[in-house]
Amino acid sequence: MTVTVTKPDGSQESLSDDTLNELNTQLRGQLVTSTDPKAAEEPTETWNAMYQDRAALTARCSGTADVVDAVNFARERGLLVAVRGGGHSVAGLSTVRDGMMIDLSAMRGVQVDPERRLARVQGGALLGDVDRETQAFGLATPLGRVSETGVAGLTLGGGYGHLNGKYGLSCDNVVEAQVVCADGEVRTASAESNPDLYWAIRGGGGNFGVVTSFTFRLHPVGPIVGFAGVFYPLEDLADVERRWRDHVSTAPDEVTSFIVTMTFPAAPEMPEVIHNRPVAIVAGVYSGDAEEGMRVLQPLRELGTPLFDLSQPMPYAAVQAAFDPFFPRNTLRAYWKSQYLDELSDNAIDAIAARAQDRPGPMTLVNTYRLGGAVHAVPPEDTAFAERSSPYMVSFDTMWSDPSQDATAIAWGRAAWDEMTKYGNGSVFLNFTGRTDEPLQAGVDSAFGRNVRRLGRIKAAYDPDNLFQLNNNIIPTG
Ligand code: FAD
Repeated sequence: MTVTVTKPDGSQESLSDDTLNELNTQLRGQLVTSTDPKAAEEPTETWNAMYQDRAALTARCSGTADVVDAVNFARERGLLVAVRGGGHSVAGLSTVRDGMMIDLSAMRGVQVDPERRLARVQGGALLGDVDRETQAFGLATPLGRVSETGVAGLTLGGGYGHLNGKYGLSCDNVVEAQVVCADGEVRTASAESNPDLYWAIRGGGGNFGVVTSFTFRLHPVGPIVGFAGVFYPLEDLADVERRWRDHVSTAPDEVTSFIVTMTFPAAPEMPEVIHNRPVAIVAGVYSGDAEEGMRVLQPLRELGTPLFDLSQPMPYAAVQAAFDPFFPRNTLRAYWKSQYLDELSDNAIDAIAARAQDRPGPMTLVNTYRLGGAVHAVPPEDTAFAERSSPYMVSFDTMWSDPSQDATAIAWGRAAWDEMTKYGNGSVFLNFTGRTDEPLQAGVDSAFGRNVRRLGRIKAAYDPDNLFQLNNNIIPTG
């Protein structure tokens, strides 16, 4: 029996049993074909329900050696390759119809060195895996806001979360990574070793190889942190957001805050007052003493008349998991778009508030993020992640569940983003990029700015044939 695997140009490669057996005997993990009954037991659903394509061939890697063999196998045969970390790509970039998947979802180990305040994290770990281990020592590294998101994709694309103001992006806290490059070589990327690769993986995505482990710098955080979570009526958003802007623009770096608008179902675990009631949630986390944090965050609780106020000193681990129930895997269809704003003017706020009132469904979010502090302390050319000055970002996270709504929902997301270009600078956050008919290079030039040329040269050095192309793709340039 043969397995037919797609190549990047659309042609196909037939792989015989003998060829597959050769790889199978090398791997410590499993090799699964789409026709294999084991594929049906697929433990690896992806997040966006729009992208559940099965690969023709999946190498479920158990460690770096498996990744090396899988990369060599794919390169030698010119196969179309997807790399999967946590499977949370909004754009479905870790799925590949009929191609080859290099799946790291079994590689979730986390090892904490509390003395040196470092954590070594495998390339398939989820945010919750890291928070669980690091919080055992009262430590943390900045990660995202939904704990099932993959550390690898999030970090390689920058990584915004609750600790950014004080400790920077996730990628800013990577001190070393182990990378299996397209030639099958395992390289260490750090300030001392392959510094160009180290520069590129801090924001440049999965373009340069498969990251089998990251070493993160850790900081004392929690276990209890000051937390604000205040639910205002959505119709008050324009006023609330003006007051929020005026407060967060002078808040200390310890405060990281954003506003999210959504409509909760009548779920028993949610207070009745917000059942099916559109709300604007003002969230804030203080990285420091919890009591002091509650005092500093108090103004976020007084931006209007709240419907409900969840603010309290809270375990950091609980804050990190607070949004989890609303983002299950393989349930929501999603198309996200974001834009940075150099100024959050009253007109921009009015436009955001109008869009938030006009969302196409209850699960569509219109979010405004305050950025700054440690994120902006890093010069734009020090890492591949170039956006180091815009103080706000707006994201339109269009989410729905009925496939018949695909076209309308996507059109709404695009129209909302287009309108925001009046107020924003046109630059996007690539982690929040949905994709339907956009090319893989969409947004890359604007997101990387002046860094894009250097990225192209580094791509040419480490992946000249663009083996790793299912990502926000950087074209190799000489
Ligand atoms: P995957 O789908 O596994 O992969 C995404 C991309 O990264 C693909 O191109 C893949 O090939 C590549 N990749 C994955 N693992 C590796 C690896 N080990 N080596 C090389 N390349 C790899 N982002 C934020 O910054 N902050 C947030 O708070 C945040 N919240 C989110 C919440 C939800 C519900 C969702 C769906 C997304 C969120 N994101 C957030 C965006 C998220 O960071 C990106 O979607 C990210 O790509 C997910 O990483 P992953 O490993 O789970 O994804």
